[in-house]
Amino acid sequence: MDQKQSLDTICIQGGWQPKNGEPRVLPIYQSTTFKYETSEQMGRLFDLEESGYFYTRLANPTNDAVANKICALEGGVAAMLTSSGQAANMYAVLNICSAGDHIVSAATIYGGTSNLFTVTLKRFGIECTLVDPDASEEELEKAFRPNTRAVFGETIANPALVVLDIEKFARLAHKHEVPLIIDNTFATPINCRPFEWGADIVTHSTTKYMDGHALCVGGCIVDSGNFDWDAHADKYPGLTTPDDSYHGVVYTKKFGKGAYITKATAQLMRDMGSIQSPQNAFLLNVGLETLHLRMPRHCENALKVAQYLKSREDVAWVNYPGLEGDKYYELAQKYMPNGTCGVISFGLKGGRAAAGEFMDKLKLAAIVTHVADARTSVLHPASHTHRQLSDEQLVEAGVDPSLIRLSVGIEDVKDIIADIEQALA
Ligand SMILES: *Cc1c(COP(=O)(O)O)cnc(C)c1O
Repeated sequence: MDQKQSLDTICIQGGWQPKNGEPRVLPIYQSTTFKYETSEQMGRLFDLEESGYFYTRLANPTNDAVANKICALEGGVAAMLTSSGQAANMYAVLNICSAGDHIVSAATIYGGTSNLFTVTLKRFGIECTLVDPDASEEELEKAFRPNTRAVFGETIANPALVVLDIEKFARLAHKHEVPLIIDNTFATPINCRPFEWGADIVTHSTTKYMDGHALCVGGCIVDSGNFDWDAHADKYPGLTTPDDSYHGVVYTKKFGKGAYITKATAQLMRDMGSIQSPQNAFLLNVGLETLHLRMPRHCENALKVAQYLKSREDVAWVNYPGLEGDKYYELAQKYMPNGTCGVISFGLKGGRAAAGEFMDKLKLAAIVTHVADARTSVLHPASHTHRQLSDEQLVEAGVDPSLIRLSVGIEDVKDIIADIEQALA
């Protein structure tokens, strides 16, 4: 892939490059298996002596073409698709952490990821310390331990809309000789490329803007190739010492900058599954072909809606990092000068009760457990995703009971605002 091409061109032409006489459009390799002439040839694939496909649980050509497109968009060296964003974040961590290890994560992350880190990975023996992303470097230092193996955060947190100071987190991670993993789902590489600010690994829930049409759940992991695993070999034995399940291959020696993604494919996908289906990868690719057109429109519409909400007497507060005066406006300007995302959170003066009433009256915006697709949608965490929590518990979790999460789509913004106006009236 020509890394010097503009992102717009990569969105359309990246990944699949047909040779003479091959289909112009990325084909769906709807096949679990791949044929070889000799037993010896297939054997070499199982030994990682040759690269090639043998079983879709590990890898598939359609998936790889789409992963390569996302890799080029992020400016990475290798990438893989996963069945979901959850699987991407789980593998990104499990690829370098084992029982007895520890990670540091921003507290303001997606609820599913927070649960994965603090409940499920804990059962695997991996501990997680959640930190306030706005804390000073001195304060954040205290979270690190000798067994810390990674730092994690989201470019723009879902749903808190906290913008992460990526450079600060990269500095801390590298001072403690561990990689920084950034979930770049909400910003997408169109608005922010975390590798340019020091991140080492990027993950995505492709379910959101990348797919863009709410068709398929999916995820992706991209490696920058910048973290020197061999320089910290004692911390990452899985990458730097022989893997007995592949006749003693040492990933960093054999695969160089491809070590991290090769290990995740060869070990984690082999043993745990969670590959994205080639059919879904195909649909994701169609979504990616317009990502560069959709993101600016999402941001433009969201800014106008945020400004409108801010002007209303009955609206108590509005959070949108693209809005001047927002707590994260300056950080957003630094990391995402062309726009942030289409998601806004706000509260009505009438609180929790008014939120439900307002949402029931919306006609164009639909109530769905989803964000970041072409259609405008709303969710009230206190009534839906965080329903089991009391008002006091909600505040502790950083979710105001009045918080309405509005995912602004790419319809005509006049119609979106008219719908909000009639619902508020
Ligand atoms: C949705 C989301 C996830 C989880 O992704 P799924 O595709 O739903 O598994 C992870 N991180 C962020 C920031 C998300 O918005």
